[in-house]
Order: sequence, then C-alpha cells, then structure tokens
Amino acid sequence: MQQFNIEKVRQDFPILTEKVYGKPLVYLDNGATTQKPQAVIDALTQYYATYNSNVHRGVHFLSQKATDAEEAARRGVQAFIHAAHEYEIIFTKGTTDSINLVAYSFAKKYVRPGDEIIVSEMEHHSNIVPWQMACEDRGATLKVWRMNEKGVLDLADLDTLITDKTKMLAVTWVSNTLGTVNPIADIVAKAHQHDVPVLVDAAQAIQHLPIDVQALDIDFLVFSGHKIYGPTGIGVLYGKEKWLQEMPPYQGGGSMIKSVQFSGTTYTDLPFRFEAGTPNIAGAIGLHAALNYVQDIGLTAIAAYEHELLVYAQTQLAAIPGLRFIGEAPEKSATISFLIGDLHPFDVGELLDKQGIAVRTGHHCCQPIMDKFGIPGTIRASLSFYNTKGEIDALISGLQKAVSMLS
Ligand code: PMP
Repeated sequence: MQQFNIEKVRQDFPILTEKVYGKPLVYLDNGATTQKPQAVIDALTQYYATYNSNVHRGVHFLSQKATDAEEAARRGVQAFIHAAHEYEIIFTKGTTDSINLVAYSFAKKYVRPGDEIIVSEMEHHSNIVPWQMACEDRGATLKVWRMNEKGVLDLADLDTLITDKTKMLAVTWVSNTLGTVNPIADIVAKAHQHDVPVLVDAAQAIQHLPIDVQALDIDFLVFSGHKIYGPTGIGVLYGKEKWLQEMPPYQGGGSMIKSVQFSGTTYTDLPFRFEAGTPNIAGAIGLHAALNYVQDIGLTAIAAYEHELLVYAQTQLAAIPGLRFIGEAPEKSATISFLIGDLHPFDVGELLDKQGIAVRTGHHCCQPIMDKFGIPGTIRASLSFYNTKGEIDALISGLQKAVSMLS
C-alpha cells in the first residue's frame, strides 16, 4: 500500500531523531502541530540569510525578490487547493485568524438582527467563538448542528436547521478530536440548495486529503501552515471572489489602501485589502516549501498510508481492556481519541511522556464535544505519514505500562 519510502521520509524531518528523557521521540501529536521537513527549515533560513526584505514597497533587488517569493507562495496555495484566482488567497496568521476575519467582515456586510448562523457541535473553539462574537455584535442567533453518539452529523438535519434567516454554515471538514471526516461535498451542496454559503475549517483536512475548492464549490476555506508541515504564524483564507469583493476590510493599516487622507481612505484590491501591515513573509515562503514537499509525496499516497496506520492503531488499541473510543465515525482520519477505564487522561498522558511518547490530553479546544460525551477530556493520538507501525507498537506498550502503574 505504502507508495513512498518511509525511512527516507523520516530522514527529511530532523526532529524525529531527537531523544526525550533519553528515549526515542514518538511524536503522535500531529493534530496540534506537525514537524518540519528540512526543505521548510532551509527555505526559512535562506530567506533570512540571503533576501530578507519587506515586500510590495521597495524598488530594490531584495524587496523584489522577497515580493516575488511571497507571491509565488500565493500561487502555490492557489494551485494546491485549485482556487480559480490567486487574489482569492488571503494570507493570515492561521485558521483562527482566518475565521475571525470572515466572522467579522462577512457578518458586518450580510448579517442583520434576527439572522442565524449555524455551526456544528464538533467544531474547534476557533470555529465557534468568532461566530458567537459576530452574532452578539449583529443581534443574530447561533444555531448548533448536533452530532450522534458516534460523532457523525446527519445531513438531513440541515433541512430543518436552515431557515430563510440562515446566513452562514461554518463546519469543520475533519474533527481534530473525533477524527470524523465530514462529507463536505454533500454538505456544501445541501447548504447551497438553501442559498446558504459554507465556511469549511480545513485545519485538519489540508494535510490529509486532496482539496479542490472549485469542484466542491466551497465559499470559504481556512487552514494553518503549521498543521501542514509549514511554519507557525502563517495561514490561509480562501474566499470566492464574489464574497471577498463585497466584504469590508477586517483590519486597517499599511498595504491595504489605495489612498489615505484625513477626510477619508479608499481601499485597495484583493487580496491586499485583507492583508494590512507587513505580512509574515518568511511564513508564506516556508508554507510554500511545505506544500511543495507534500505535493512531491502526494496526498493520495499520504491518505492511503495514514489510513493503514489508523486501522493498525485502532485494532491494537481495541484489544486494551477497558479502552473506549470517543468518535467512531465510519469515515475517519488518523486521529484517535480514547479513554481507558476511569483513568484520568492527563495521568496516562504524563506516563506516556516519560516513555518518550507525545500525545495530547484534555478537551482539545472542543469543550462542546466533551459536554456531549460527559467526559473531562480524552487521550488523543494523531498520526502523520512519518509515523510508523513500530511507533504504534510503542504507544500500545506504553499504554499497557501506564495502565499497570495507575491501576
Ligand atoms: N480548527 C481545527 C479543526 C483545529 O484542529 C485547529 C487547531 N487545533 C484550529 C481550528 C485552530 O488552528 P490555529 O490554532 O492554527 O489557528
């Protein structure tokens, strides 16, 4: 099944040879952030060492070179998600920043008192709180699309949830806690039958699945560079031109204006209208290197290998007495949340850490999911294509050890 050389891939990520507490690092916290290949580290170093300069401002050589690299990154993102135009790609700080931009700006333009916005029950806080703030600001109501006990959303619910007051459906493609892969094509098609635009949180999809925003007719798509092997502090907002052209700017400042007088300011064109201030130039360049790296391996090969790891891990975990999965959707990415008996997730996580195994414990910024299942948190292993079956074996024996120490 595996279509790439795992040993070679692992050599591309210097951190994977690190030891923690003298033990080989087993990094299973990829949902929180991914490790960086040498190609990304080199792109950042090269930028700072040889052409660091501000963009879009100078006529000089370095500024031109930095501008060219940043705009090449924009086209790289455009190609990666198959957007129609490069000016539909807005660079932001990350997923959270992108959602805040849309929640503020879209709501300011389109949301009136009495209107409704829908989010799903499995959203990350960053796809809930900005909408709550927008609703409060605009006098609108936030409605919740509930999921079932397996962590699956029922498409038919949208027919009753959506009304003629609904202005936006904001939904995650892949749940960072449950691993559920939502049927985004069907969700968008259903919402569009009711003339409701859709914002897709692709923070946990971009690194696992091939994405074509045009084929899926997605209105807004957001993601973070650091979840797809790129740097922190850089992210993307894709928006269809027809929305972005109408939405007011989110932040004011340099780079987003045509002219400024004390009597008033006119704003410049897309995408810069939404990019006030000096952007994260290194971040964009690093992200571009990351996308190229992922593209070279191929998302289809990545998805197939990660699925193989998921099945392997789930089968072994299921054999641990008292282990309960949280999130059992038939369509899952390689993110596994679980609990063992009445052991506290934090205690298990701490004992795994001492064995060099990095997992995440807690609510994963999804408190409504914890409320739904009536639990304080979960233990979460989130896998990447650089993980191995040997590392899953290490997780299993680490868990067995933790259980015997805590019981
Ligand atoms: N949405 C989802 C589904 C996520 O997993 C995350 C990060 N855990 C975010 C949003 C927020 O991303 P960031 O912190 O990079 O803005």
